[in-house]
Amino acid sequence: MARYEGRCLCGAVRYRAEAEPINERVCHCRICQRAIGAAFNARLLFRIDDVTIEGPVATINSTPDLKRGFCAACGTTLFSRRDSRNILGVTSGSLDDPSLFKP
Ligand SMILES: [Zn+2]
Ligand SMILES: [Zn+2]
Repeated sequence: MARYEGRCLCGAVRYRAEAEPINERVCHCRICQRAIGAAFNARLLFRIDDVTIEGPVATINSTPDLKRGFCAACGTTLFSRRDSRNILGVTSGSLDDPSLFKP
């Protein structure tokens, strides 16, 4: 069973990661601030292939190389994905158990 699981506010989108995070970090850049609508973006980075996402995800590119994923129904920001580096960062607040986040 995956240890890292989460979902959006309404529950329409769920995800799980089958591996340990590559990195756990807090980003305060202006793009993250705007995308999240808060002072920082706290996230856990995984390889894209290690994360399974189910549900109506919508995405928008915040830069040509970075896609932000959110629930199309409730708008919860769930991940940022960088294909060129095979990295997907899930938002720590969307975890079922946010105490797993160790930046
Ligand atoms: Zn939702
Ligand atoms: Zn950032």
